[in-house]
Amino acid sequence: MINDIKRLKEEKNAVILAHYYQLPEVQDIADFIGDSYALSKQAANTSADTIVFCGVHFMAETAKLLSPDKTVLLPEIDAGCPMADRITAAQLAAYKAKNPDRTVVCYVNSTAGVKALSDVCVTSSNAEKILAHYKDHKILYVPDKNLGNYAKRKYNLDLEAWPGFCCIHNDLTVELVDAMREKHPEAAFIVHPEAPLDVLDKADYIGGTKGLIEFVKQSPYKRYIVGTEEGILHQMRKEAPDKDVVVLTPELRCYDMKKTTLESVHRALKTDTYAIEVDSSVAAGARRAIDRMMALSEQ
Ligand code: SF4
Repeated sequence: MINDIKRLKEEKNAVILAHYYQLPEVQDIADFIGDSYALSKQAANTSADTIVFCGVHFMAETAKLLSPDKTVLLPEIDAGCPMADRITAAQLAAYKAKNPDRTVVCYVNSTAGVKALSDVCVTSSNAEKILAHYKDHKILYVPDKNLGNYAKRKYNLDLEAWPGFCCIHNDLTVELVDAMREKHPEAAFIVHPEAPLDVLDKADYIGGTKGLIEFVKQSPYKRYIVGTEEGILHQMRKEAPDKDVVVLTPELRCYDMKKTTLESVHRALKTDTYAIEVDSSVAAGARRAIDRMMALSEQ
């Protein structure tokens, strides 16, 4: 099957992009593995005709926004993100009507409709930088309350956080961290900012997926307790084979991210499924929010 995936890829001039939370075997057949930001950049710059996006729906939608002339395929059409579903465009429009003075910053984990109503988009790798850039504004941050409240406290922002969350990161607790620290007293605890504030307060390092991998590669600790989706351990082990990584809890498994398999990637290439389209009424607005993110991120 892997050989056939490679053959189809060549035939169709396709590129396979995979997020760090994908199954190890899917990561291993990808041309590029990365966080949402790096994958967006790949999608924007690729010369391929077809992008097979191994991730969840909003990621493929972002790729389509950045490469509207290319075919973007999501191998499993029901691979969604429960966090992105926590806010609809209609809810955001209603909020904006009542609060016209707030600058709307949306996490990339959101629909194109929500992005179109936002002033700027962010990913976990640039959220702090971009939110700090708007420190003189009144901000609404959607949809992740945890990342929003973390940045609000760190940069003393006038920020209202939408009450959404990632169902796996939001379930992390101080008790889980304490129990693992007792088991591995020499380890560093590293965590994604989608976790609650009291859990973040226990961390030796807080960062997005790419930041967490870089920390493991570069810091002197030998062992790490990892507070994010367990798929990332595969890359950590590949990129830092001399380090020991353990996941904080086996519950850190995103079932939407794990829907994509080698079989579904193969089917996607063979049958051109599932092609992602973005409603033309929201595409230009969503693209504007993403372009602003790219510009601020590179500053
Ligand atoms: S890990 Fe959380 S934020 Fe990421 S796709 Fe899964 S539910 Fe969404």
